[in-house]
Amino acid sequence: MNKKQALTLGLAFIGVGAVVAYTQRQAITYFLVERNASQRMTATLNHLDDGLHIGLCGTGSPFPDPQRSAACTIVVAGPTVMLFDAGGGAAKQIARMNLNTGQIGHVFLTHYHSDHIDGLGELMMTRWAQTLTDQPLVVHGPTGVEEVIQGFGLAYRQDTQYRVAHHTPQIMPPHLAGAQTATFDVQGESFATVFEAPNLRVESFAVDHAPVSPAVGYKITYKDRSVVISGDTKKSGNVLAAAKGADLLIHEALNPQLVGTLQTIAQKSQRTKLAAIFGDITDYHASPVDVAQTAAQAGVQAVVYTHIVPPLPLPTLKEEFLGDAPKLYSGTLRIGEDGDWISLPAGSKNINFERRWLP
Ligand SMILES: [Zn+2]
Ligand SMILES: [Zn+2]
Repeated sequence: MNKKQALTLGLAFIGVGAVVAYTQRQAITYFLVERNASQRMTATLNHLDDGLHIGLCGTGSPFPDPQRSAACTIVVAGPTVMLFDAGGGAAKQIARMNLNTGQIGHVFLTHYHSDHIDGLGELMMTRWAQTLTDQPLVVHGPTGVEEVIQGFGLAYRQDTQYRVAHHTPQIMPPHLAGAQTATFDVQGESFATVFEAPNLRVESFAVDHAPVSPAVGYKITYKDRSVVISGDTKKSGNVLAAAKGADLLIHEALNPQLVGTLQTIAQKSQRTKLAAIFGDITDYHASPVDVAQTAAQAGVQAVVYTHIVPPLPLPTLKEEFLGDAPKLYSGTLRIGEDGDWISLPAGSKNINFERRWLP
């Protein structure tokens, strides 16, 4: 067969394929729907190695950012699935990581800024619809968490009634709607164990996000592996203390130069309110350089930036965002992305990064 004949035959095959695909499109559509839905509904955690696994379901901030959802970090520790902060869109983001909110037993809130709690309503409602356990969701947080959960309870009271009436109390048991709260007091500099399960300890510590108080970070230790989540804070001695001996530090970061540029543009555009806010926010977040210094001092193996301010719509902005940070810290340093999955297998020193993101 010469080249021309081969080309003709190839085009003929493509043509026949296209005709078959078109005439069978309904069957193909249902096949794909069944396959995708089955993959999602049967997703378990069984394939994960024993260890700590961290899913970045939201690496953004209150800035509307098409690439990053607000604060949302999943932590799987052995059989326990926890969520740290529930920014807007948390339930959708968790589904995109091929997990379901019904798997979550505990939520830990760092503070009550809107970008850390906006997703609680949808999270609690979808968790109620999906959980196969008889255990209510528990939302842990420093003083003030009851008010937040009671507020969501009030906002969702009518929805809860509709769903019980429609699906029956057997399917939607009223006692599983919403969440229970577990409040703790933040005592100055001290670390407190706020949750324990076999081989698992969650500690909280105060951070510096003034005037927001209380505001905490968390250290999660499972067997011989540990991760520290900073919450929102400027450079903090408590984060440093928590990160000493930890494997991984997940730290918020704001680049003051980039925010300064936005402030100047806002001033020029007569957006005085926005310009003032851009000026205010630089004093209660950490810069990428601050975080690199903390990580180097603590000697952690890896640092992942989250709560990225401002948005970085151009790839070249990532370098600008980091500034001198890579020069100050010699370990693994990454800007977290929504969909990143970081695994710390027990009994090893490995830190494995992968993407886990459904279309
Ligand atoms: Zn925040
Ligand atoms: Zn905040």
